[in-house]
Amino acid sequence: APVAGPDYVARLNPEQRLAVETTEGPVLVLAGAGTGKTRVLTTRIAHILASQKAWPSQILAVTFTNKAAREMRQRIGDLIGSSVEGMAWLGTFHAIGVKILRRHAELVGLKPSFTILDTDDQIRLMKQVIQAEGIDEKRWPAKQLAALIDSWKNRGLTPKDVPPGEGGAFAGGKGVKFYTAYQDRLKVLNACDFGDLLLENLRLFREHPDVLKEYHERFRYMLVDEYQDTNIAQYLWLRLLAQGRRNICCVGDDDQSIYGWRGAEVDNILRFEKDFPGAVVIRLERNYRSTGHILGAASHLIAHNEGRLGKTLFTDADDPDAPKVQVASSWDSEEEARAIGEEIESLQRQGHALNEMAILVRASFQMRSFEDRFVTLGLNYRVIGGPRFYERAEIRDALAYFRVVAQPADDLAFERIVNTPRRGIGETTVRLLYDHARSRQIPILQAADELTQTSEIAAKTRTSLRELIASFARWRNSLGAIKHTELAETILEESGYTEMWQQDRSADAPGRLENLKELIRSMEGFESLEAFLEHIALVMDRDSAENNDAVSIMTLHSAKGLEFETVFLPGWEEGLFPHQRALDESGRAGLEEERRLAYVGITRAKKRALIWFASNRRIHGLWQSTVPSRFLDELPEKHVDVVEQTSSYGGYNVGGIGNYGASRFDRADPFANTYSTPGWQRAQKNRAEGAKSKSYGASRLIEGELIAKSTGSASAYALGERVFHQKFGYGAITEIEGNKLTVDFEKAGSKKVVDSFVTKG
Ligand code: ATP
Ligand code: MG
Repeated sequence: APVAGPDYVARLNPEQRLAVETTEGPVLVLAGAGTGKTRVLTTRIAHILASQKAWPSQILAVTFTNKAAREMRQRIGDLIGSSVEGMAWLGTFHAIGVKILRRHAELVGLKPSFTILDTDDQIRLMKQVIQAEGIDEKRWPAKQLAALIDSWKNRGLTPKDVPPGEGGAFAGGKGVKFYTAYQDRLKVLNACDFGDLLLENLRLFREHPDVLKEYHERFRYMLVDEYQDTNIAQYLWLRLLAQGRRNICCVGDDDQSIYGWRGAEVDNILRFEKDFPGAVVIRLERNYRSTGHILGAASHLIAHNEGRLGKTLFTDADDPDAPKVQVASSWDSEEEARAIGEEIESLQRQGHALNEMAILVRASFQMRSFEDRFVTLGLNYRVIGGPRFYERAEIRDALAYFRVVAQPADDLAFERIVNTPRRGIGETTVRLLYDHARSRQIPILQAADELTQTSEIAAKTRTSLRELIASFARWRNSLGAIKHTELAETILEESGYTEMWQQDRSADAPGRLENLKELIRSMEGFESLEAFLEHIALVMDRDSAENNDAVSIMTLHSAKGLEFETVFLPGWEEGLFPHQRALDESGRAGLEEERRLAYVGITRAKKRALIWFASNRRIHGLWQSTVPSRFLDELPEKHVDVVEQTSSYGGYNVGGIGNYGASRFDRADPFANTYSTPGWQRAQKNRAEGAKSKSYGASRLIEGELIAKSTGSASAYALGERVFHQKFGYGAITEIEGNKLTVDFEKAGSKKVVDSFVTKG
């Protein structure tokens, strides 16, 4: 019989315990979500330390995010009962890579003080390289080159390693030439980009075996979490380091590989057994996180993927009263946010902490309706893994344009976008404008107007500045004359801002374009540009919820490794989830990665998983019916409750749920779409071909105007009138300023609110 180990080992199941106690030699833990992989790693480190097999500084532990590294440090401390000092090599690949590189910078031609370029600098440098070659940057944008070089770096390829022919994707076969030139420039500048960190490590280890040997001595034990998402460069790096003592333990789940688009390779899992013969492979099958319904739903869904290593999962946490996975639909994304908001408040009333609730979205633009709704409700939320919607760079840029149109004296806004997109109006010019504005005591836009009539500014700059000033004058003239959403779109088009992102080839550019579209959509709920900007000012003013009990909002990608009692999964519609980009891809790879993302989403939930889809999305002011995600059909009926509900507007029979025909979720209306919007329409067409469900006839496309009435556009209030606010309760209006009301609330005191947030009381 096994001897009872220390307390922390005794609390593990036999397979976990094996993974913890097999400290010598290579170990691969391959197991599904919530089976305790991360817990095994943490306990393993505690075990190594407690049994004095190594000092903290002799353990290399790789996590996927900095946050995960902090948590792991904390947990190890909890396990061994004292804080862990000296775990200097616990962090992300990047963090550890930089550290090694700084110590040996000179060996790879850098000074230890080398700088790490951010994406902006990287692009600027590539532009220079492209220009130096006399290539047209418009035709061959720097971003495209950046993406190409990154993909080589992810694969561990220096310029001379790139297989012949692969450079063809840029400037007629010049890719590799530019790669070389770019690397040379970096060296001159004593700089690295992110991709270089590991690449230079690889070079260092290969060219200086004595250095590698030093690390072989040092790293007695190596541990890697989320192993399924490592790219080739990371894999090679691990392999070189692990060749020393061969004490490497990797944990991962092929079903949770969701970074293929960034170069991650699930094959690294298969390679492991080949490169480390005799590796002990341990499978964990008991899930400690989720109820049987959640696990059953997730397992059934992921079984639709073909390229799997396959595994079984079971849970003992089977409470007969545990709720099934809930699927519900709403009229549109606003109603979705409203319904989820209600659900959250109801859970909160039952005593559930907001910290234990999360909303996981496929695309960041989806966050907007939740953020707006939660601000209205006064519900604390935090956005994880990125800025809040209105704080995103592209949203701030767009808002800056709108602000200058609405308030020409908004100097900060003007300065933000004067050279975005680039118009050749550099810092020197901006300084000149400021000096002039200050001495004349006028807004900077007016100063610009005056200066462009002199020869203070170089002719070329003057022309583009004049163009910009004229554009602002034109847009301002349209204020009130055309619909504000139309104006907003026009501004983004004519300023070249939208185009700037369309030209951008970086991975996040499509997401930014989606966010811009969502921004325009969000304006539909307001009467004017000014009213919208006032609302934004209030939203931005919200206190940070960092330390409070708060609902988490994040993308599915950043939810990896986390867990919550209740998880809301909105937007399960074809074209959104699975995402259109995956559907456009040939082959199954893209779709399978989307399905893994769905698996990651559901398995974050301990007790409750609630999936939503909206029956309609508003695109360019027109309502368009959507097609429920195919993933809904892939959920097992046994573990799923389809919630029949009536829309809060009454009268609508929401979204086809309850139609248990050939397809449980009525999805297709082959006749409805006359308005051409590439993504959604294509999704519908594609799905329509396969769907056998009944059609609705041709009435599903409804003019935005019609519906706007029922969504409650702003209406006039009178001084002294009694109103009701979701968060603050009843009160009387003491001041009206545009659509901003000052209300003396009976309980909450005097507050300033936007009138669309209150109802007549
Ligand atoms: P993911 O694949 O989502 O990253 P994971 O395999 O890393 O999941 P963990 O996060 O380590 O799983 O564990 C999931 C939950 O189960 C955690 O709350 C953890 O504390 C708990 N858990 C793991 N093992 C045990 C155990 N032996 N006894 C009790 N609880 C456990
Ligand atoms: Mg984990």
